[in-house]
Amino acid sequence: MTPYELVGHTHSYQIENILRLYEKYIEDISIKSILKENICRAEIYKNNHLLIYKEEKDIKDPRLQKQKLASVLYQALVEMTGKEMPWGFLTGIRPTKIVHEMMEENLTDEEIKKRLLEFYFIREDKIQLMMEVAKKEKEILDKNKDNELSIYIGIPFCPTRCLYCSFTSYAIDKREKQVEDYLDALEKEILSSRKYLKDKFIRSLYIGGGTPTSLNAAQLERLLIQINKSFFMDEIEEFTVEAGRPDTITKEKLNLLKKYHVNRISINPQTMDNETLVRIGRKHNKEDIIKAFYMARELGFDNINMDLILGLPGEDRKNLSYTMSQIQKLSPDSITVHTMAIKRASRLKETLDDYSLIDENEIEKMIEMSYESAIQMGMQPYYLYRQKNMLGNFENVGYAKVGKESVYNIQIMEEKESILALGAGAITKLVDKENNKIERIANVKNVDEYIKRIDEMILRKEAGMDFFEK
Ligand code: SF4
Repeated sequence: MTPYELVGHTHSYQIENILRLYEKYIEDISIKSILKENICRAEIYKNNHLLIYKEEKDIKDPRLQKQKLASVLYQALVEMTGKEMPWGFLTGIRPTKIVHEMMEENLTDEEIKKRLLEFYFIREDKIQLMMEVAKKEKEILDKNKDNELSIYIGIPFCPTRCLYCSFTSYAIDKREKQVEDYLDALEKEILSSRKYLKDKFIRSLYIGGGTPTSLNAAQLERLLIQINKSFFMDEIEEFTVEAGRPDTITKEKLNLLKKYHVNRISINPQTMDNETLVRIGRKHNKEDIIKAFYMARELGFDNINMDLILGLPGEDRKNLSYTMSQIQKLSPDSITVHTMAIKRASRLKETLDDYSLIDENEIEKMIEMSYESAIQMGMQPYYLYRQKNMLGNFENVGYAKVGKESVYNIQIMEEKESILALGAGAITKLVDKENNKIERIANVKNVDEYIKRIDEMILRKEAGMDFFEK
């Protein structure tokens, strides 16, 4: 990281985020970020000589000061490198949240666009995307009731671990006993959570992971029975199960999902290129994806999502063009297009030198290509988020046909209602709308620890919920 000095403030997080954006464009410089007498100033030095500075005066509000310190540094770096970022100096993972805030202030579209452009320096096409997504989300969020929440249940097992994975997920092979113990603990947590649901209405329920369908049919049924017994299934608008890996999907499991009221599934190829599938550690090919998809359709699943990743190792526009042509033939109800992110806890990060990754110009063209394909499939962007360490600092976008937007995905992004989360690594989020605050209660990530300490997890949640309710 470029060396920096903070003078008169301690906002290292904001400053480091901006420096990270420019890491590969700058060398042999040092930075001074200064807050003095309500002036926010950034100075760039080379060989101890002041090269560039930017400042803004009369910034009294502490929250604004934090943003302006990032802004002046961003402006100085743009001047030095000539490189503007698509999202300006906005580094948070939920870009549309600020649009919702401005909508709540009753700003007009034009005023919102102006602020995004002139305050955050966001590029016009990204502003357009933010506005489009925020409006779609609003249609769904406006239907939120005061007493509703969503539920997340995590199954941290997969057939194998993907090259780029940083989630809590264990290869399920030879873990029969651990899986059974995990389900025992999870059932205990599900049962104990029922007390929080009195007078509450569950709008969406999401089983993710991991790959929940990597459970065998008996284990999956056990879990689904427990869920059906514990929650009022009739009320639930959306019940999603991630059936991410096609090699875990069987007719028997799909029938179980139907029987127990699952009405949305996600089959996630990431790519339809067989060579890449091997490279990223999958044990299936594109034919398995096609077979699983049609099997689900035949059994009546009319809301199927497919996840894709742009910029997987060894892939470029040619691969994406092929993948999109295959996806178009399947015509899913929604797709989620991720931009490759190099996560710290992934195998990819450790072995990065062994792979070729494309540059940001190519990624940008791939993003455009995926947008056009989604539009051709009759979809619209409906949710959006960003991650750290994404190639080119772009974004992930969910597209859906009208009426097939995932309620849960929007809730988790916009944080307008509480999410009760169960299982290893699950983080419950309690939304205090009145005070505009969010409390988090996290379960331990490690599966053995979760099993061993399930009573403690239950008590921890109880204490957090009690505190929140008061
Ligand atoms: S399917 Fe998802 S959770 Fe499972 S290993 Fe791959 S990236 Fe990780």
